[in-house]
Amino acid sequence: MVICLWKSPVVLYSSEYEWSEGMNDTDLWQTVLGEIELSTSRASFLTWFKNTILLSRDSKLLIIGVPNVFIKQQLETKFNELINETLKKNGIRPERIEYKIHAAPVKPYVNEPGESEALFSAPGESVAENQTQRNILAHTYRQGLNERYTFDNFVVGSGNELAYAACQAVAAQIGTKYNPLFLYGGVGIGKTHLIQAVGNAVLARDKKARVVYISSEQFLQEFVDALRFKKNTDFAGYYRSTDVLIVDDIQFIANGVKVQEEFFHTFNALHQAGKQIIISSDKPPKDIPGLEERLRSRFVWGMTIDMQNPDFETRCAILQSKAAEHDVDLQPDVTEYLSNNVQTNIRELEGALNQLLAFCEMREIEPSVEIASGLLGSIKTRPKHLSARQVIERTARHYQIPYSDIVGPKRDKDIVVPRQVAMYILRSELHMSFPKIARELGRKDHTTAIHSVEKIERESALDTDIRTAISSIKERLYA
Ligand code: ADP
Ligand code: MG
Repeated sequence: MVICLWKSPVVLYSSEYEWSEGMNDTDLWQTVLGEIELSTSRASFLTWFKNTILLSRDSKLLIIGVPNVFIKQQLETKFNELINETLKKNGIRPERIEYKIHAAPVKPYVNEPGESEALFSAPGESVAENQTQRNILAHTYRQGLNERYTFDNFVVGSGNELAYAACQAVAAQIGTKYNPLFLYGGVGIGKTHLIQAVGNAVLARDKKARVVYISSEQFLQEFVDALRFKKNTDFAGYYRSTDVLIVDDIQFIANGVKVQEEFFHTFNALHQAGKQIIISSDKPPKDIPGLEERLRSRFVWGMTIDMQNPDFETRCAILQSKAAEHDVDLQPDVTEYLSNNVQTNIRELEGALNQLLAFCEMREIEPSVEIASGLLGSIKTRPKHLSARQVIERTARHYQIPYSDIVGPKRDKDIVVPRQVAMYILRSELHMSFPKIARELGRKDHTTAIHSVEKIERESALDTDIRTAISSIKERLYA
């Protein structure tokens, strides 16, 4: 019996897809990232790998571009082995890997839903070679069930308890209880984790169960490919023969008319056969723009559950549990601090924790509120031990200019940039008012401070030197 985790895309294409020296570096790196994503948590992947790029390679040296010094250190110390192994699996064996800070904006590594739509809405167009290549790639690195997402490591609390209970009920008795199960809510609050946990639980009980997890973008992409390569029947047959079909982020399916029709038939076939359908979305069915009425009405046949960002206590418990996974016992004040200051969603909370743990591990120090606040950047309670003078002195020292120059009247570029950086750090780290920032730097007019902070904000998005300078100054300030 086949375990249908995947539609075996790798098997389908691997023979065509041996990496050679001539292979495009972008494609190679996309594949490597796709594999790394499966072996790390999503938060960790997003924190450390998302904005990396393969800059160059030859038989000796492979250079990876990273956005800042912090990520560089982290990849060097903690992930070098993983990267090396993953490269090896793809036939690349450099003698050495180097990490280099790189400013160019990096294309996100997942296919954008918009791209799929463009492909879909132009079926008559001749297909460029590289586009076909990209579609094959879309298969080889798409995301499957990740074993790390289980019920055991999901912390239950306000905001997610109903969803958790429903998912457990479905996992215990597929196809009968809530069908479809539809979870919706904002980003990073655990939807993917929970729906994958159902798949993992079903497979843990019955290895032969045909569980398929797919994002609706991938579904759309595969559908387009199936039409193009005239494999419509394979495609339809495959999805209609699953025991549990998990479709993540269904909102993207509304991008295509024909794919909605296809999904409608898949849905009906599965539902009639008593197979389980699990769907997630960022919005309830009634609010998904472009979603066909017949799908909308079917999506609410079973159970529709709204997931919310968990409350303070649950966030603390999540942090404790994630820290324990890293063998770290987080002090309650640190947990509370993070939980209070990263309220957006769990993915960001986990990202903040990862950064804190990595920072402390590298320096062999205990995580503390001071360090956490320094790393978070925008915090409500300003670090009491830091004065404006310390920030300005540290900045001047970084740029090797005298303190008297940075607060003095000179307007040379060599002085102006450090002065602006100091203003930016006073604002972002100490949350000082603009008039006060201007005074500290010897400026009369507070609009100078406003312009400077805005300028550095803008430039640090593009300019690696500035970004590196800021993170290096901050690191020393909080060291
Ligand atoms: P979504 O799909 O809603 O955008 P994810 O499922 O990807 O969010 O969750 C983001 C991250 O937060 C994942 O690493 C996930 O493991 C973690 N997470 C979210 N909620 C919880 C929870 N209640 N317990 C443990 N981890 C959680
Ligand atoms: Mg998700």
